Amino acid sequence: MPAAFDCPFCKRSFTGADLARRVESYAPSSGLHLCACPHCAASIECRVRRDEIEVGYTYWAGSLHFEGVETLTVRGLRVADAAGTLWLGDQPLPWWSRPPG
Ligand SMILES: [Zn+2]
Repeated sequence: MPAAFDCPFCKRSFTGADLARRVESYAPSSGLHLCACPHCAASIECRVRRDEIEVGYTYWAGSLHFEGVETLTVRGLRVADAAGTLWLGDQPLPWWSRPPG
């Protein structure tokens, strides 16, 4: 798996860990995190699994679907709770901007 991904908006690359540090919100219903590009702050949808983060986009086709574009390896990354808090190794990652509520 690649370690970096080129932002579809500004074309500059970032790593999965860069993206995990720019989480803006989490949608428990879809299990998706909304992140911001570390360079241009464009919104990027992603799905976090253990040790990896999948970058993609959602579309509506009767129900919400997530289409993964690229999966980045992030050793030690995981979703720690139902609120979508991410941990990297033994450290919780701070929300870049707190989710509402
Ligand atoms: Zn960007």
